[in-house]
Parts: sequence; C-alpha cells; structure tokens
Amino acid sequence: MTSILDPKTIGAPKPRARRHARTLTGYTPEKDEVTGKEKWPRGEEAVWKAGLRDVDAEEKTITNSIVNHVQTSLARQAYNLDNLGAYQAVALSVRDDLIINWNETQLTYSRKAPKRAYYLSLEFLMGRSLDNSILNLGLKDKYAGGVDKLGFNLEDLLDQERDAALGNGGLGRLAACLLDSSSTQELPVWGYGLRYKYGIFKQLISPEGQQLEAPDPWLDHQNPWELPRLDVIYDVRFYGEAKRSSDGSGRAEWSGGQEVVAQAYDVPIPGYHTKNTNNLRLWESKPKSGFDLNSFNAGNYEGAIESSNSAAAITSVLYPNDNTSFGKELRLKQQYFWTAASLADIMRRFKNQDKPISAFPEFIAVQLNDTHPTLAIPELMRILIDEEDQTWDKAWDIVTNTFFYTNHTVLPEALEKWPVPLLQHVLPRHMQIIFDINLFFMGQVEKKFPGDRERLARMSLIEEGSPQQVRMAHLACIGSRRVNGVAELHSDLVKTTILKDFVEFYGISRFGNVTNGITPRRWLDQCNPTLSALISSTLKIPKEVWLKDLPKLEGLLAHVDDPELAKTWAEIKQANKERLAHWVQVNLGLKINTNVMYDIQIKRLHEYKRQTLNILGVIHRYLQLKALTPEERKKTNRKAVFFAGKAAPGYYIAKLTIRLIVNVARIINADKDTNEFLSLYFLPDYSVSLAEVLIPSSDISQHISTAGTEASGTSNMKFCLNGGLLLGTVDGANIEIAEEVGESNVFFFGHLTPDVEDLRYQHQYHAIPIEEKCPALANVLNAVSGGLFGDGGVYEPLLNTIRQGDHYLLTDDFDSYIQALAMVDVAYLDQKEWIKKSIRTTAKMGKFSTDRAIQDYAQEYWNIESAKVE
Ligand SMILES: *Cc1c(COP(=O)(O)O)cnc(C)c1O
Repeated sequence: MTSILDPKTIGAPKPRARRHARTLTGYTPEKDEVTGKEKWPRGEEAVWKAGLRDVDAEEKTITNSIVNHVQTSLARQAYNLDNLGAYQAVALSVRDDLIINWNETQLTYSRKAPKRAYYLSLEFLMGRSLDNSILNLGLKDKYAGGVDKLGFNLEDLLDQERDAALGNGGLGRLAACLLDSSSTQELPVWGYGLRYKYGIFKQLISPEGQQLEAPDPWLDHQNPWELPRLDVIYDVRFYGEAKRSSDGSGRAEWSGGQEVVAQAYDVPIPGYHTKNTNNLRLWESKPKSGFDLNSFNAGNYEGAIESSNSAAAITSVLYPNDNTSFGKELRLKQQYFWTAASLADIMRRFKNQDKPISAFPEFIAVQLNDTHPTLAIPELMRILIDEEDQTWDKAWDIVTNTFFYTNHTVLPEALEKWPVPLLQHVLPRHMQIIFDINLFFMGQVEKKFPGDRERLARMSLIEEGSPQQVRMAHLACIGSRRVNGVAELHSDLVKTTILKDFVEFYGISRFGNVTNGITPRRWLDQCNPTLSALISSTLKIPKEVWLKDLPKLEGLLAHVDDPELAKTWAEIKQANKERLAHWVQVNLGLKINTNVMYDIQIKRLHEYKRQTLNILGVIHRYLQLKALTPEERKKTNRKAVFFAGKAAPGYYIAKLTIRLIVNVARIINADKDTNEFLSLYFLPDYSVSLAEVLIPSSDISQHISTAGTEASGTSNMKFCLNGGLLLGTVDGANIEIAEEVGESNVFFFGHLTPDVEDLRYQHQYHAIPIEEKCPALANVLNAVSGGLFGDGGVYEPLLNTIRQGDHYLLTDDFDSYIQALAMVDVAYLDQKEWIKKSIRTTAKMGKFSTDRAIQDYAQEYWNIESAKVE
C-alpha cells in the first residue's frame, strides 16, 4: 500500500529527474569551476549522454519527437532548454497524436455520415490540457519516462501550462466536461464557441482585501492545443438595412452595414482510451480585408485602423459576469457573430452531403447552452427563407426540430432580454423575423386560450415597456424541440415558474431534465491519482474500466468496514492536504496546518451562493472560541476554512464579501488564543487548476445557496467523488447527491424551496428585528459593525443586505446553519465513522458522470448514436 503514497504519484515535489540519468548511465557530471555545482546535460545532449539504448521503443519515439519539436517547431537548441520550452515541445509532441486521431475521427464521421450534434456554448472552461491528453491517450507513464530521460520532471512541465479559462464558472466547466464525455462515449458531437483573446480576468487581492482584476493574456505563450484554419472563414454582417421583398414570399434582403470575418481554430478533444477525438471549433473575429484600404489611401489612417479594431474587438474578451444579464452591444455582437459563423459552418457541412434541406433535422441537432446562442433560431430562419427559398412554415418546421434548449437559471436578473431598438439597429433582419415569429405564436396562443389577454402578454416574445425587450428564454423555448433544466428540482422550477405558461400551451412532454455531471477522468483520476489507484486495487477493476462506467464505484460499499481500506483512505486524504499546504506555501508563502479538518467553499462569489453566510458562521465560531477557557477549547474540533472565487468586476456586494473574508482571516489567523483551532484562507484567482488541488483535500465542502436558486452545482459532485462530505441546503443537485449517498451521509440545513416565497414576503411586510429573530446573527453583525475586523463602516452596505430585505434569507437559515456545522464537528471527531461516510459518498457518485449526462442528451434529445473510430 505504501506505493500509493509515493510522492511521485501524488504530485508532491519529486527528486530532480537528472538523478535518474545518473543511475541509468553511471554518467558523472563535470563540476562548474566557479560555483562547484554539478553541470547536468539537458535535452538532446542528455539523451545522448544517457545512452538511451535499452529504453522501450515507444518511449524512444516520444523522446525523439520531443527533441525534434525543440529543434524544428521551436527552433531552439536541445540543451540549455527551460521548463517552458520543454513543456511546449512535449505539448506539440502530444498534439501530433491528437491530430492523427482527430483526422481519423473526422474521416469516420464523414464516411458513416451519422446524425451529429453541435453544442453551442459561449463558454468553455477547459483548464489545462497536457495531463488530460496523456492520460486519455494512455501515454502518461511513457511521457513521464521520456521527459525524465531528457532531464526534466513531468510534474514541473505540467505546471508550465496556462489554464484555458474561456468561461466564468459552472456553465463553462459543464461544457468542457460534456465534450470530454462525448469523445469518450464515441458520440459525434462538436462544440462551437469563441476564441477570446483574454479569458476570465486574473484576480489579485490587495492588502486591504480588495479584489483587483488583471487581464488574462492566455495566448501570449502561444497555444499548442489549437489548429488555426485559415481556410475555414465566413463573413458575418452587422447593422445595415433589411428590405422585405414585395413578391409576398416573406423573403428579405439584408445589406450594407459592417462585415467582419470569422476564422476557425480547432481544438482536438481526446476521449478516454478511444481513438474518437471530437472537435471544439472556436471563432476569431478579423477585419474583412486587413483594414479599410480606401480610408487608408485617402489618408484617413485612424478611420482605417478603427474599423479593423472594431472587428477584432468582437472576440477580444470574455464577459466576466456569471448569472447576470445586461444589454451591452458588444455582447450582442459576440452572440450573433458566433451563432452566425457556427450555423454557416454546420450548413456547409450538411450541404456537402447532398440531402434535401428538409432532411436537416434528421442529420443535425443543435444544443443551446443557456439562452446565449438563441439568435441561432432567427438566424436559421433567415438562412432558410432568404437564402434557401423555403416557405415560412417549412423553415419553422426545420428550426423547431433542430434546436434544443438548456435552461441554467430561474434567477430573474439572469434571464436575458435585449432591447428592441438595439436589436433593430444591430440585426435589423433578425428583429423582423422575431416579430414575425411572435405574430404567429401569439395567434396560436389566442386560438388555444381565446380572450386571455394577460396570458398573451405573459407569453409574448416582447416585453412591453420603454424600451420594449425581447425575452430570449421565450424565444429559445418556442424555437426548440425540447427544453431541459440541469437538476430535478431546477427542471421542476422551470416548469412551474418561468415557463409555466409554456407547459400549459405545449404540454409537459416538451420539458425534461438532464442532471449535470462531471468527467471522472479530470475530477478523480487526474486530480487525485492515489485515490484512483486505491479504488482500482480495492475493486480489482482496472481504472480503464470503471472510469468509463462510474456506477461500478458502488463496489466500494462491500469494503466500507475494511480497516485496511479505511486506513489508506485516510492517509490519502492527509497526503492531499499536504499537497495543498505545499502548494499554498510555494505560491502564497503561507504555512497551513495539515492536522485539522479542511472545510472548503470554492465557487463564483454571488449573493445567492451565500459565501456571506459562511463567513458570518466563521465569525460566530471565532467569538465562541474566544469565550471558552483554554481547557474547553482543546475539546473542540480544529479546522481550517478555505474560500476561493471571483466576483464580477462590477458586483459591489460580492467584492465586499471578499474583503470581509480577507480581513477576518487577517485577525483570526493572528490570534494566538484561537488560531490553533480555527484558521481561515482566501486563495486568490480560483481556476480549474486550483480546484484540482483543493478538491481532493477537503473533508467537508459547502454548497449553501438559498433554496431554489442554484440550478445544479457541479463542484458539489467533484468534492463528493473525492470522498469529501457535503454540507448544503436542499437545493440543486445536492438533493440528488443525498438521494444517492443517503441522507445520513450529508449535512442538510435550511428552509426549503416552497418556503422561500412566503419568507421573502415576511421580510417585505412583517419584518422582525434581527435581535429578536436571530440573536446569534445579530451578535456577529455587531462585531463586524463594531470594528473587530477593521473599519466596520466599510461593510455596512453588505450587512444592510441582511438587515433590510434579506432577499437570500440569511436571518432565516443562520441558526440551522450553525447547528449543521456543530453536527459536522461531532461527526468528524468520530474518525472511524467519518471515513466510512467518505467511502460511501465516493461509492455512490456513479450517477454524476457526464458520460451519463451526454448519453441522456444523445438518446432523449438529439437521437444520435455512437460512431466508433476503428
Ligand atoms: C466546477 C467549477 C465551477 C462550478 O462550481 P459550483 O460550486 O458548482 O458553482 C466553477 N469554477 C470552476 C473553476 C470549476 O471547476
């Protein structure tokens, strides 16, 4: 069992690889005359000096390929190479394998011509690709060996890669996990998105605790995982005029305005232990012809460069807002640019097949990830009517059999609406089509519910007001064949709240659920290789099998009482805490205790996610500890609390919450009475890579949204898969996790979804003073106001969201939250039982693989089948 704890496999710092070269060859290095340091060869020289005679042929091929890329692709010398150069060469070498599989996959899809699905998402939060690629290709050991022979350490090279952070949070990460599973399940699926020049901002925290944002120029070091397609380009128009033809055909001509070019970049998506390698196609915007030569020749340099800049601006930056909508013109242009390029590309591929246009939905399904790509609906209508000569009815029939819509939120502030005047200006033809769709639709509603004017107003695509606004969720709903939410509770809420009228109109069968998932390759095997190895040895099933068939984890239940397993399970958790502590020490210079419970909340900062509840709970605990005698304190459960997450740059209250966390940490970590028992960390710049280090170390994680607000959550699944227990509200996928693992293995608290409306009503009209309603919370708020954590006045706007209105129900849930935390403490003190809960939790996470989720979409929505690459 000790081999599992080998630092090599848990990612702890390893001895330098060059020592291996010495033992391999007996090579004795020269010594530097001045410093006396040993001079070790690197790169090709190392290969030569190591005399790679007996190594395995595949490893030799790998080292040759790496050295070759160093010399040709990178045009560098093989000796004197730094880690970054070595990473780039290794990535290019891996990319060669991916490209071969990618080509074969596209050939297979062309030859078999199966129905295909396209996943349109404005966000793909991919994280790093090197480790994932070599694991999926089954080449990790070979690459580790090859890199080692070249005098490098694979873990160091993996660390050179920048995250591809083209997303905000859960929605973008779901898209990434679904792509991984689509290749693994050998399903013909492509993703379409935007190639933002700048991904989600880098978060810095000032000494005062303020979030600062810096740009994320992730392409600066070049991106080895993308293939530019200079030949895959489309023109995309904005503005101009739409003139309806007078021939009664309903066609129109759209001309003038601005034209920009969309150019494709392809990112291969390897499946796990399969050749199938799907494609993620990302669009970059470019000026149509360099820049405007006429202006340039006329001496109008600024004008020429301005128009070129305006084209490039479209894909320059990811909007950093999560779960909020706001009507910015550039965002609208991003949405149209991306849907227009993607549909043109899909149409071109379809037309190569020489099928009648009416067969379009038999060969193509398009999934809309949230309402962001909803313009695809009027865009396909425009193509079919204006360019393909279809009648309105035929076009509508094709459209409504092609699209599928996934709703991601019922929060009113997140429901997209576009002002009619803006749409009219930027996309005049699409505005006409949306009005026409609405006219037909309103006619149908009127027929079914005669005289029900309120219903018509509620269901209309156009919300009255000044200005009028287009309701994108309504358009997505009526333009799609089916609509789904992302967890059982959320799908029910979609049906009973925001789309209730549509259920009454269309019937229930148009509405479904696909509970989210995560890929167990990245979120278990890659981020927690020791646990993965322990699971394989316990189940006596190779990981290549159970990682593709996650319900097999249930076999762990038979071993829950095995003390040997429990011991190793606990040792792995401990090693993962040490790995995190090491990471924090190296990256933030902080020393953290590894012999305490790790309690983690990492996700976007949002009022509905209630990080505020958590930090107020921490303060409550601190005040209680201070009131105990030293003897009493020693009997308490010791813990470290971790936060990480970004706030949208304009989200004032969320930023104040970060500030409070940082300042509470400053005070309590310095308090010698208590810091042995309670410590607090805000880790800056949350990312996929940081999540991969944090998640395996957690004993308990918090998913404590106000009931009915978190559509699903996916980090809850990641923690539980890694044997972390869940503390949460009865919300989103927490509910289904509890159904799987059993309620005795999770810690639930708080009011339920059906209570929320009444509670909010009471806050509005029958507010009870906090001192009466929740004295414990009042005490905590007073401590903050009173300046225990620095100038209390700073936090008044944050505290006032609780004192007045309390939309997220902190005063209603605080007491039961504190009780739940106390139950966690009691449970943790019984380590034997705790480990059993942990094993049971992992064992029952089979449902939450995106392999299951993608199959749900494939079978119940898209009607596509797998197409294996032989
Ligand atoms: C999984 C993940 C999320 C989603 O987290 P939730 O807690 O479900 O909101 C957000 N960001 C990153 C980097 C993730 O990996």
